[in-house]
Amino acid sequence: MKLIFASRNKNKFYEIEKMIPNKFQLGNLSDLNFFEEIPENEDSIEGNAAFKANFIHSKFNVNVFADDTGLEVEVLNGKPGVHSARFAGIACNADKNINKLIHELKEEENRKARFKTIIALVIDNKFYQFEGIINGEILKSKKGNNGFGYDPIFKPDGYKESFAELPIETKNKISHRAIAISKLIHFLK
Ligand code: IMP
Repeated sequence: MKLIFASRNKNKFYEIEKMIPNKFQLGNLSDLNFFEEIPENEDSIEGNAAFKANFIHSKFNVNVFADDTGLEVEVLNGKPGVHSARFAGIACNADKNINKLIHELKEEENRKARFKTIIALVIDNKFYQFEGIINGEILKSKKGNNGFGYDPIFKPDGYKESFAELPIETKNKISHRAIAISKLIHFLK
């Protein structure tokens, strides 16, 4: 059965492809000859993941899943959350986002934060959602060179290292995304 992953991120695609049960043939947006950006204008991580999966399903009538992730900081009432990619502005990058977050938390004792990934799946015209959360804290400065995004300032609970200091294999076993993906894989099996 054909199953589309509505993402352009090749790393995520290969990571998921290795785990997906054999009865599924995993495809991507290029396999649909779809090269446009899917809008991400919803006001929640759940909303964005659902919008992306429903958008591709209604356009192409295929089985499809999509993911969306955000970093939620407790004292910022869950921000940057759905706006994690654009926290420091539209034309920003990971470094600018990190610097802004370090600055906003400069005087804060409570450093609690969590990454949340939502995977939305439309299969046989039914909608499902899978959540992955990892709790941790925001460091006062960057540590490590692995990973991407906010990894250098996120230390998962139970570890001494930031995500960017941990081997990528370790991060990929314990991360928010890994948890959501394993729920999806379990469901598909
Ligand atoms: P996306 O939904 O996967 O595109 O993620 C939204 C934003 O959250 C990205 O731009 C990253 O800055 C951040 N992000 C997502 N996943 C991770 C992660 O595993 N580590 C660090 N940052 C992440």
